[in-house]
Amino acid sequence: MSLRPAPVETGDPSATNYADVIIDRLNQGVIVIDRTYTIRLWNRFMATHSGRSEADVIGKGLFDCFPELPLAWLQRQFKSVFTLRSFGFVSWQQHPWLFNFPHTRPITGHLEQMYQNATLLPLKDSNGEVEAICITLEDATDTALYHLQLQDAIKKLEQQNRLDALTNLYNRGYWQQRLTEMFSQAQRYQNDFSLLIFDLDLFKEINDSHGHPGGDEVLKNISNRVRQCVRDIDIAARYGGEEFAVLLPGTDIKGAQVFAERLRASIENNPTPYLDTEIPCTASIGIAQYNPQQENFEKLLAEADTALYEAKAAGRNCVRVFPVKK
Ligand code: GH3
Ligand code: MG
Ligand code: MG
Repeated sequence: MSLRPAPVETGDPSATNYADVIIDRLNQGVIVIDRTYTIRLWNRFMATHSGRSEADVIGKGLFDCFPELPLAWLQRQFKSVFTLRSFGFVSWQQHPWLFNFPHTRPITGHLEQMYQNATLLPLKDSNGEVEAICITLEDATDTALYHLQLQDAIKKLEQQNRLDALTNLYNRGYWQQRLTEMFSQAQRYQNDFSLLIFDLDLFKEINDSHGHPGGDEVLKNISNRVRQCVRDIDIAARYGGEEFAVLLPGTDIKGAQVFAERLRASIENNPTPYLDTEIPCTASIGIAQYNPQQENFEKLLAEADTALYEAKAAGRNCVRVFPVKK
């Protein structure tokens, strides 16, 4: 050790030696730098992880030895310790790492480096002036790893929560949330948007003829047709049972009609392969467009539902628009 810690006042001279041994064997980095950022103390943890021995770095400039350190930012931290005489703390969340050390975990998936927490401790002379700073460096890789894995898991759960398990389209809850947002935005900015809802025709008969698993296959196939027809910004959901809904941002009723007809034809022309047969299916589609007279999103939804009802009444497998022409 190059900079001896002040003797501990126990009257026992061996206490200083104990401190040397402890600092050197700590499972944390301990570095002391003076006012010119020259390295005065470098413990074994630092030597092991940096590959630079004590003899190699003592008396040299910290930033010369480790050019990867964030110079301007770290100098600001040091200056505030020197002038304010207060402790500093740098967490891995603020700065994932100061020293570019490899981590020692066999597999992390996420991380390339050792994540680090650092404390900056002012060391004062007999006048109370800060003459040096002790930096301690803690390996925070495990904490960071758990934290990042937890964030990933939460994100995945949030995404799962939005989806319908059978079809992987959005579920009704998420779709309605997006509709509410889109409705408020349209009220504010007068954006065009349309929505369509559709219900599969005579689906009970499909279940009766092919069983529930056959019906489920049809639902999945039709969801794939929807996915193929929509744009990235459209929001398609399984609204319930064999009913579906699609939000079409930036689309007026004419555009929505073109989309609905394409979707209707795609469903009609792509029967579902099932066991050794194919199950044909069609859909009746209702469309409505946002307009400022609708007081709330429920009104818009009810208009699309009226159009859907008309499509059923007109013989199914067709598209109807609200307001319905008699
Ligand atoms: P319509 O043309 O008038 O819509 O006739 P329909 O037979 O489709 O009538 P309706 O829409 O009222 O019936 C929906 C049927 O869809 C009833 C229900 O058994 C079936 N169904 C709802 N959810 C599922 C599901 O998850 N899987 C399967 N296989 N069937 C479902
Ligand atoms: Mg239905
Ligand atoms: Mg139906």
